[in-house]
Amino acid sequence: MSQARGNLFILSAPSGAGKSSLINALLERHSDMKVSVSHTTRSPRPGEENGVHYHFVTQDEFKQVIADDGFFEWAQVFDNYYGTSKQSIETQLANGIDVFLDIDWQGARQVRELVSDVRTIFILPPSKQELEARLNSRGQDSAEVIASRMAKAQSETSHYNEYDYLIVNDDFDTALYQLETIVFASRLAQTNQTHKHQQLLNDLLAD
Ligand code: GDP
Ligand code: ADP
Ligand code: 5GP
Repeated sequence: MSQARGNLFILSAPSGAGKSSLINALLERHSDMKVSVSHTTRSPRPGEENGVHYHFVTQDEFKQVIADDGFFEWAQVFDNYYGTSKQSIETQLANGIDVFLDIDWQGARQVRELVSDVRTIFILPPSKQELEARLNSRGQDSAEVIASRMAKAQSETSHYNEYDYLIVNDDFDTALYQLETIVFASRLAQTNQTHKHQQLLNDLLAD
């Protein structure tokens, strides 16, 4: 078996739908999956660590990475800049690790142009009321920030039909199982399997 490149996955959702929780729960179970750590100009929330949750940078530092052509994709979301550096994904994919991008719909559009076989997943909350309850219960954003995220939830959700898969994150374990199923099925895609099992196919097809 030869070393196959990892698969690239994008998760998007309105803020508070559960992207980060689902990705973190999946990574706890699988050592061959990683999440890309984005750069952002927003301030850290309580408990967020630089280099773990995000690379927290100033606007000037962010612009320097743009000037150096260091971003794979970047976008302005909620008055802040967010971006995935090329460095944060390339080594992992080359080592056969599946990489998750927790990025917005604008970033997803850019990545689709660059990586034709990226798998994209949109997470829906079970209702508007529950989305607001989750943003409140997370307890990390001010009332003003929560109101602005709720106001933007509809426009983020309107892009759901640009994605390959939809998951409703109502019962958490069900949504986690569904996410895991998408990842496992993707690994079995014919193009992936052809690369991985080239020797077997050569043997089976030899005269
Ligand atoms: P959350 O929605 O509560 O997880 O809040 P965050 O502040 O972590 O993320 C804000 C928005 O920025 C979300 O829509 C994310 O999907 C998006 N985002 C985060 N990182 C990136 C990135 O590297 N690139 C892009 N394009 N969007 C990102
Ligand atoms: P996102 O990354 O999409 O902004 P989070 O993963 O931070 O969302 O989830 C927002 C809040 O909702 C967190 O407090 C999380 O614990 C909670 N949460 C996530 N999924 C569920 C679920 N299925 N049921 C109840 N609460 C959930
Ligand atoms: P938060 O500020 O709550 O961590 O993230 C807000 C939104 O920004 C989320 O929807 C998240 O997916 C998006 N986001 C985070 N990092 C990136 C990134 O690197 N690129 C893009 N395009 N969006 C991002």
